[in-house]
Amino acid sequence: MTATPERGLIYNQANMAEPLASRTVDRCRACGSARLRRYLDLGRTPLANSYLDEKSLGEPEFAEELCLQLCLDCGLSQLTKAVSPDRMFRRYLYVSSTTATIRDHFAEFARAAAAAAGAAKGDLALDIASNDGCLLAAFRGLGLDVLGVDPAENLAAEANAKGLRTWRGYWSAALAEKAAREVARPKIITAANVFAHVDDMAGFVDAVAACLAPGGAFALECPYVVDFVEKGEFDTAYHEHLSYVGIAPLAALFERRGLDVFDAEYFPEIHGGTIRLFAARAGERAPSARLKGLLTREEAFGLRDPEVYDAFARRVLDNRERLRAEVFRLRAAGRTLWAYGASAKGNTLMNFFGLGAEQVPKAIDDNPRKWGLYTPGARMKIVGVDALKTAKVDCLLLLAWNFEAEIRRRCRAAGYAGEFLIPVPEARLAAAN
Ligand SMILES: [Zn+2]
Repeated sequence: MTATPERGLIYNQANMAEPLASRTVDRCRACGSARLRRYLDLGRTPLANSYLDEKSLGEPEFAEELCLQLCLDCGLSQLTKAVSPDRMFRRYLYVSSTTATIRDHFAEFARAAAAAAGAAKGDLALDIASNDGCLLAAFRGLGLDVLGVDPAENLAAEANAKGLRTWRGYWSAALAEKAAREVARPKIITAANVFAHVDDMAGFVDAVAACLAPGGAFALECPYVVDFVEKGEFDTAYHEHLSYVGIAPLAALFERRGLDVFDAEYFPEIHGGTIRLFAARAGERAPSARLKGLLTREEAFGLRDPEVYDAFARRVLDNRERLRAEVFRLRAAGRTLWAYGASAKGNTLMNFFGLGAEQVPKAIDDNPRKWGLYTPGARMKIVGVDALKTAKVDCLLLLAWNFEAEIRRRCRAAGYAGEFLIPVPEARLAAAN
């Protein structure tokens, strides 16, 4: 396995005068309203997936405002700035097959989507932002024909090498038309952990509606904004993550584009809380009881109530002080502190909390592609879990808290007997076992 990522521009957006300029979001991307209210400013931070190699340590890092705002009309939370995709996705190192939890989840997702769409063997399943083909492989296992779309050259090539047909690019009307013309109209379209990264949501949904086969289903998964707020998961905010979605704002958007959301599922354990929505062509399906129940819960949460978000922001700032105090106490006592999880969320946390390599010199990550690189901003050196076998580490800051059980197992296997510092929602120390 190589520790150096592939380089090079993988996508050129046409017709952009300044392809690398950020866009100020002054209209809600779901409903178009200008009534947007800022509620959590995480500062000007580097891009959370822009890992550095030795050579680039001496160069300045691109940074942009990372701040959340609420649409007072539809309840969609969204960032105040949309950074150019060309800055964010040209070197994408996240590989979805990395963890067993996610592999199992995707296998179940494929079965659920196939059932919802009533797909038969040989029908086409199209996965948008298919990464290394994890979900495509699950669909193939069900006897379906598969097509993936992904902008990252290295990941698309990896999927194709596994026989999982993948086109390189961002999802668009042109790709939807090409899929229908050259392959088939998909009976299933899936979008896992991509919709929240899309600036032009209406265009994305229009392209789905244009090629989805009659009777077919579109299934999407996104981190859920209710968990984001209730569990204090501010660290799942990063520049790629443009929107923090609820069911109601998306259902309203879909309806305006000719699709009905007819079912929803909630997964509290996936990525800190994930919702899955199923949509079909307008008029084809009746809304499920499960969908109605989740919408009722969302209304009770107060999706459009600014006070809910202000209270969340206050809790986040309190926790920032608590965790910083704990880190500085451990350091003053001469303890060695490393991090576990060199992921986007860890980078947001480290940078917003004003922590860096001085306090936490190394970050363990299970993705070998990241080993030898440095985290953006905080500049922790990334190593594999085996480094714990030889280093004397007293405490691990669990940045990837969403994989806590799996990480504890891996650390135990590597002989680690120190403590864990869990940062979210409230900083707390926990023993290794
Ligand atoms: Zn809105």
